Amino acid sequence: MAHKGKNVLCGNWKMKLSAAAAKALALELVPLSRELRHSQIWVAPSFTAIPDVAAVVRGSALRLGAQNVYGALEGAFTGEVSVGMLKEFGCEFAIVGHSERRIIFGETNELAAERAAAVLKQGFTVIFCIGETAKERKENLTGEVLEAQLWALLTKISEADGSHLIVAYEPVWAIGSGVVAKVQEIAEAHMTIAAIWKKRFSSACPPILYGGSVTADNFAEIIRLDLVAGALIGGASLTFESMQKLARISEEAGSC
Ligand code: PEP
Repeated sequence: MAHKGKNVLCGNWKMKLSAAAAKALALELVPLSRELRHSQIWVAPSFTAIPDVAAVVRGSALRLGAQNVYGALEGAFTGEVSVGMLKEFGCEFAIVGHSERRIIFGETNELAAERAAAVLKQGFTVIFCIGETAKERKENLTGEVLEAQLWALLTKISEADGSHLIVAYEPVWAIGSGVVAKVQEIAEAHMTIAAIWKKRFSSACPPILYGGSVTADNFAEIIRLDLVAGALIGGASLTFESMQKLARISEEAGSC
């Protein structure tokens, strides 16, 4: 799914909104999405909320996706959901490799990359999350960690598959912590990601989102950074008021 050069504000609703609450929030976001010229709002509800949210977003400018997906077309994969199942409800993207999947559920670089590669090969948009822990940053390992996580994917895909890819730089220490990365740290990490891409492919680097404690108080300077195409937003995506503020900031900053 092309984001057409617009800033992507992707809400990751995690395991936080019931189907009823997700539907109510989507109902408020639909008219807001319609007003935006330089930005797109994407939402990733829990699987159980997807059907209700799908009914609300159909035909609107609000884009619907999932928090995870498995690459196989069908089969004995208990607990997993395929691209076809998501498409049935109008989903257009899925998040893969979120640090909560990697750390809590033990998804390795290899597994996250295999998932994402298989999904990209089906022409489905993937937001592929990568990022270092606090310990890794302290030990100056950020570049190596980003390279290991992204390289695992880039060696499994073709340049054409990469046209459906969005990378999200999400430092683990910034997720849900209230500690946002400094603009310099974000700029450096995004340049590192672009350089890793260039080592493998000659085409332009995919859009890169920043994620980690984004709020209306810190977003204005982040969205103005050159290599930032938008944000993956957890806590601040759970209310309409907060999303409205973020959308206004994004609109003032203009297209990425
Ligand atoms: C996330 O979970 O991807 C995230 C960025 O969360 P938060 O905005 O709450 O830090």
